[in-house]
Amino acid sequence: MTATTHNVDPGEIEKFEKLAGRWWDPNSEFKPLHDINPLRLDYIERLAPLSNKRVIDIGCGGGLLTEGMAARGAQVTGIDMGKTPLSVARLHQHESGLDIDYRQATAEQMAAEQAGSFDTVTCMEMLEHVPDPAATIAACAQLIRDDGQVFLSTINRNPKAYLFAVIGAEYLLRLLPRGTHDYSKFIRPSEMEAWAREAGLQLVDLTGMSYNPLTQEYTLGTDVSVNYLASFRKA
Ligand code: SAH
Repeated sequence: MTATTHNVDPGEIEKFEKLAGRWWDPNSEFKPLHDINPLRLDYIERLAPLSNKRVIDIGCGGGLLTEGMAARGAQVTGIDMGKTPLSVARLHQHESGLDIDYRQATAEQMAAEQAGSFDTVTCMEMLEHVPDPAATIAACAQLIRDDGQVFLSTINRNPKAYLFAVIGAEYLLRLLPRGTHDYSKFIRPSEMEAWAREAGLQLVDLTGMSYNPLTQEYTLGTDVSVNYLASFRKA
């Protein structure tokens, strides 16, 4: 395997390539990402204010979080292994006039080139799509400066998460195309924390992101049973 193909699942990239044209449509398959975007931006801003920070967004996709962070004054690099998501991100960036450096690269490649260069690393809703999430987390740890912070989000692995994230979102509510998520790749917070610890990180905060199907709204709170956000710094 070359550096570019290492720790990348081509089947997973393909899923996003196919959908990418609708990335900025808030009523598309990407609605959940649109809905959670303000919540996660506020979360990051609260723990690591974005203004004038050097940030790298790993698995940036069409750039929802990336643009949000740039709009809050961060100097952002966005990386993804999907070609179409990146071209969508670049097109949208032209419209919004934000200054973002988009690149097709993996976290591991960036860590080899620019270790210790970023105040903040974000890797959201991506770890459940990579073959070796522990290696991605280790790359995130290498990318931050000594006083930097890493923000990760993913989906927990338990029967409730299966019900909400797979059955509910893909079959009942049809928020996402069937097959978007593979239950076996979901990550328990304890697993994430253990991988982070091996990478020299310590947990700063763990926060749940819950979807209420009745109000159709997401909220942040203590319930980490389905979606969750975590922040880490160097131990
Ligand atoms: N982080 C964004 C997009 C999440 S979708 C957000 O939360 O709004 C997951 C993205 O991860 C897709 O764009 C997909 O192409 C990308 N991806 C999957 N595996 C990757 C890898 N190994 N390296 C870089 N990007 C990857």
